[in-house]
Amino acid sequence: MESSEPEIFDVVGIGFGPSNLSLAVALEESLDPVTSAFFERQPSLGWHRGMLLPSAKMQVSFLKDLATFRNPTSKFSFISYLHDVGRLARFVNNQDFFPTRREFHDYLEWAESKLAQPVAYSSEVTAITLAPTGGQGAADRLLVQVRDPAGGSRQVHARNVVISTGLVPRMPVGVEADEFVWHSSQFLHNFRQRDHGELKRVAVVGGGQSAAEIVRFLYDSLPGATVSAIVPSYGYSVADDTPFANQVFDPDAVDSYYHGSQRSKDAVWQYHRNTNYSVVDDEVITGLYERSYEDEFSKSNRLGFLNLARVVDVKRVGGDTRVTVHSMVTEESYDLDVDLLVCATGYDPMDPAEILGELDTYCAHDAEGRHLVGRDYRLVTTPELNCGIYLQGGTEHTHGLASSLLSNIAVRSGDIAHSIVARRSGAQGKGIDA
Ligand SMILES: Cc1cc2nc3c(=O)[nH]c(=O)nc-3n(C[C@H](O)[C@H](O)[C@H](O)COP(=O)(O)OP(=O)(O)OC[C@H]3O[C@@H](n4cnc5c(N)ncnc54)[C@H](O)[C@@H]3O)c2cc1C
Repeated sequence: MESSEPEIFDVVGIGFGPSNLSLAVALEESLDPVTSAFFERQPSLGWHRGMLLPSAKMQVSFLKDLATFRNPTSKFSFISYLHDVGRLARFVNNQDFFPTRREFHDYLEWAESKLAQPVAYSSEVTAITLAPTGGQGAADRLLVQVRDPAGGSRQVHARNVVISTGLVPRMPVGVEADEFVWHSSQFLHNFRQRDHGELKRVAVVGGGQSAAEIVRFLYDSLPGATVSAIVPSYGYSVADDTPFANQVFDPDAVDSYYHGSQRSKDAVWQYHRNTNYSVVDDEVITGLYERSYEDEFSKSNRLGFLNLARVVDVKRVGGDTRVTVHSMVTEESYDLDVDLLVCATGYDPMDPAEILGELDTYCAHDAEGRHLVGRDYRLVTTPELNCGIYLQGGTEHTHGLASSLLSNIAVRSGDIAHSIVARRSGAQGKGIDA
């Protein structure tokens, strides 16, 4: 007989990218069992599939996997994966800390397949509201609404939710994606469906890692096409991954950032933004420059760089996409007609307000309207709300540079799991001090 009572979970995870996969691992390895359910809107596990370009590499060491920094003996580590699939010795011979993104994706799928509990795919969380309390007192349960693509819906109760819905693709102002204008997040899906012979003039806008990778890929994949790179800077800038700078991604750096003054937070962004934002790996820059040099020498003239330039308008004219480019050098605009424009123009950070809806009124904000977040990644809420709303992502202002990255997911997931368990047993969660 079907029960009308919704199922109740200690933890409901919203989104199942690497962050919540890492949390699922931490919960599974926790000595205090909790009940959990994870909902993911994609039909299967997918980590930026649209950008799994063949030679693209990770920008983080393989040791910063789902578990190792929290539990070096975890059976979910990248090393366990290599051992299990029979590539450990060859991986070590390769002497490279940075696997390809395709290999890392394979690792993520492997780890997911080892979880004891299945993930609910094709399941989009559409709303989170207060569950009826049936009386007085602070609400200790949330009602999570889930929709599947076939139109079915499901409701579950959660004592804690962990929101991890990821970065949001950003297009240039006033530009909309269509059949001929793509955001980089959709690049491979769209590229596979296109007749490559039709792509004779392609342009890529952006100055970061994705832009440079796509320029390289298109130049190599479309030998009959011209590729125009529209770059906002004078040229691609290198990502600083030197050892001292890289320390900003250490687990300890989260404490320094979280407990630091506003001046120290500002300094971290001022000095270390170039570890991740609008920068490109050395190896990609060098490879592109070599291509550009050879292109000029051989008089192919297929690869062009429009520097200090911005896209100000895109429209369809006849069979072409007309891109209006503004040069910051001459302060003049000119048109570029192309068969394809790829906007590798980045992402906005996760903003939990959207999914929280009305529930956001129970959450505390600072003077700039940003959420107040405990050291344990739990949103600070009003006394009416006793359940936990945790964030994986969207905490750049409180926890620093690694918020949307992989660098710290193992430790962060451990902190969240610890806090959930500690609160359940009435103890103080680690550093709930906001
Ligand atoms: C191309 C690319 C390469 C990158 N490479 C690196 C790298 O090498 N190293 C690094 O540290 N970082 C990298 N990043 C940064 C990136 O943010 C992290 O790698 C990682 O994706 C963060 O994991 P996540 O789980 O927080 O978010 P995501 O991986 O974005 O996962 C979020 C998930 O939530 C799902 N979702 C969203 N809304 C809902 C909803 N309402 N209901 C259900 N499911 C929902 C989405 O479908 C998605 O699967 C890269 C980013 C990009 C775009």
